[in-house]
Amino acid sequence: MQSVFRFAPSPNGYLHLGHAYSALLNAALAQAAGGRFLLRIEDIDLLRCRPALIDAAFEDLAWLGLAWEQPVLRQSSQFARYRAALDDLSRRGLVYPCFCTRKQAGAGAERHDPDGAPVYRGACRVLPPAERARRIAGGAAYALRLDMAAALRLAGPLTWDECGAGETVGDAAAWGDVVLGRKDTPTSYHLAVVMDDALQGVTDVVRGKDLYAATAIHRVLQALLGLPAPRYRHHDLLRDAAGAKLAKSKSAAPLRQLRAEGMRPEDIRVRLGF
Ligand code: GLU
Repeated sequence: MQSVFRFAPSPNGYLHLGHAYSALLNAALAQAAGGRFLLRIEDIDLLRCRPALIDAAFEDLAWLGLAWEQPVLRQSSQFARYRAALDDLSRRGLVYPCFCTRKQAGAGAERHDPDGAPVYRGACRVLPPAERARRIAGGAAYALRLDMAAALRLAGPLTWDECGAGETVGDAAAWGDVVLGRKDTPTSYHLAVVMDDALQGVTDVVRGKDLYAATAIHRVLQALLGLPAPRYRHHDLLRDAAGAKLAKSKSAAPLRQLRAEGMRPEDIRVRLGF
C-alpha cells in the first residue's frame, strides 16, 4: 500500500521554523517511501484562521520548495461530516451536552490533563434528561463532550504504532471528557483530525511531540468511529536559543520575516537538517 503523509497546519498565525521542520520532514519521508504528500488546512477556528493567513501558508510552503497534491482539504468545508459523526456518537450515548462556561468547566478540578488543563469533573454528564431537554429548549449554548469512561468500556484497551518505539499504550482516561463539538463549531481538533486522516487515507501521521499524549484520544475516536489507525511519528519540537518551545503564540519569527531578512529556502533547509 502506498504511504500517505500529510502536513496539517492550523493557520491562526504565520508559519514559523517549527512548521517548516514538520512540513519538510513529512515531505522527505513521503519521498523516501515513494508515497504521497498532502497538505490539509485545519481551519475549524473561523475567527482565528483568516483567509490571508491561509494564503500566506501556501506561499511560505511553496517558497520553501514544497509541492503538494491538489485539491487541498480545508476543514472549514467539512462541518457537515463532523456534525453527522457527532449525531452518531450522540445517538449511541457516547457524547453529552455540556452547558458549562470554560470557567465552570475548570472549577474544582481534581487533576490536570497531559497538556496541563483542568480535567472536567462531569457535572453535565449527570444532568437529568429532563433538565438537559429544558436547557436546550431554552436555547442554552452547549458543547458536546465525550463520555470517556463509556467510550473506553466500548473501545477496550488501545495502542498505536509509534515510529522508533513500536506498540505504544496511551492513557486516554487522563484527558477526561474531552470536547468533541464546541459551542460555536460542530467539531473540535480531535474529532476533525481523526476523521480527515481517515478520509484522506493517511497512513503515516508525522507531527510534533506536543500531540503525542493526545494520540490516545485519537485512537479512542478511531475505534468508536470504525476508522483505521495510521502509524504515528512524533518528532522533537524545535526550541529557541533559550530552550523554550517555538510556538506561534510566542515570539517565533515567522518564515516570511526570515525571508524578508534575506534568508533563502536553502538556508532554512540546512538549518533544519534537510
Ligand atoms: N493542526 C495541528 C497544529 O497545527 C496539527 C494537527 C496534527 O498534525 O495532527 O498544531
